[in-house]
Amino acid sequence: RLMRRNRLLEITTEAARYFYYQLTRTEQGKHALGYLDSRKVTEEFRRRFGLGYAPISRDGLYRFLQSKGYGDDEIRGAGLSNGGGEKVYDRFFNRLMFPIFDAQGRAIAFGGRVMGSGEPKYLNSPETEIFNKRKNLYGMQIAKKSRRGKILVVEGYMDVLSLHQAGFDNAVASLGTALTKEQALLMKKYVSDVVLIYDSDQAGTKAAQRAIPILEDTGLYVKVLRIPGYKDPDEFIKNKSREEFEALIQEALDPIDFEMVVLNSQTGADTVEGKVKTLKALAQRLSEISNPLERELHIRDVAQKMQVDEQSLKREVDEIQRMSG
Ligand code: ATP
Ligand code: MN
Ligand code: MN
Ligand code: MN
Repeated sequence: RLMRRNRLLEITTEAARYFYYQLTRTEQGKHALGYLDSRKVTEEFRRRFGLGYAPISRDGLYRFLQSKGYGDDEIRGAGLSNGGGEKVYDRFFNRLMFPIFDAQGRAIAFGGRVMGSGEPKYLNSPETEIFNKRKNLYGMQIAKKSRRGKILVVEGYMDVLSLHQAGFDNAVASLGTALTKEQALLMKKYVSDVVLIYDSDQAGTKAAQRAIPILEDTGLYVKVLRIPGYKDPDEFIKNKSREEFEALIQEALDPIDFEMVVLNSQTGADTVEGKVKTLKALAQRLSEISNPLERELHIRDVAQKMQVDEQSLKREVDEIQRMSG
């Protein structure tokens, strides 16, 4: 088993080398280098993240790995090719490649982006014996060494790259899945504070709402940042500056305030019905704060911001607590 795992890790590492070579040393790779330029990724950072290029070839990677002495079954096991014998197909072709490293810095899988249009925009390695996407975070091998004292969780590979390039070496991405308990525990090994910075669309808001309890249940302190005016951190940082992003992080919202902003924008705070609905949802949220002092302070704060009587809100919260006993 261990032998097999080590073989698969060798294969993914060799594959990362192959993609790197294709990007930097071949004619086809120039197109991908151009794409990286267009997205303002510098040479330093494409090296740091080991970016590569999967060429237009049916079985180039497979033949390369075979020449290194790896067998069909192992190559398939690493998630890189399908089929066998004469009918082998590499999983990735004509894509910009992002190696996914585990926290120890070993390449365990890949994400590949089409350059230009095409579907799917990102193709990832399948789950393998060495890649469990629930347990890994893109960029963690670097973020774990950051001295910023917290972790920024973003949606995508490009968000991670852009933020690192702007000096936020504590950014990680959750590999296109909802944030998992395992990922929360992984972060908890290194920090106690996390800032969620998801895309500004509806999907990003939903993803943040789902991630909050998972992180909090792990004992992490959570803040949520909504990017104003741009669709994701990558675009914000490219159009604004490091300083402006730094300022945003300082203003990241407490989960309850985030919930309040979201609810108010969904139901509208200008009608009585909307306000009642929002307050009920907030009361539910407040009732879940187990520390009494913390709960009281949050109740006061929400009451003030929603312009309702603190005592009535407190009664509502107490009622919910009594019911759920
Ligand atoms: P870009 O800036 O390159 O267009 P993005 O990161 O902004 O990409 P999103 O559409 O916001 O792209 O998706 C966020 C992340 O979700 C991606 O970085 C990728 O990890 C994952 N993802 C997106 N689309 C897919 C897909 N079709 N299959 C698997 N994962 C995907
Ligand atoms: Mn998105
Ligand atoms: Mn995005
Ligand atoms: Mn993007």
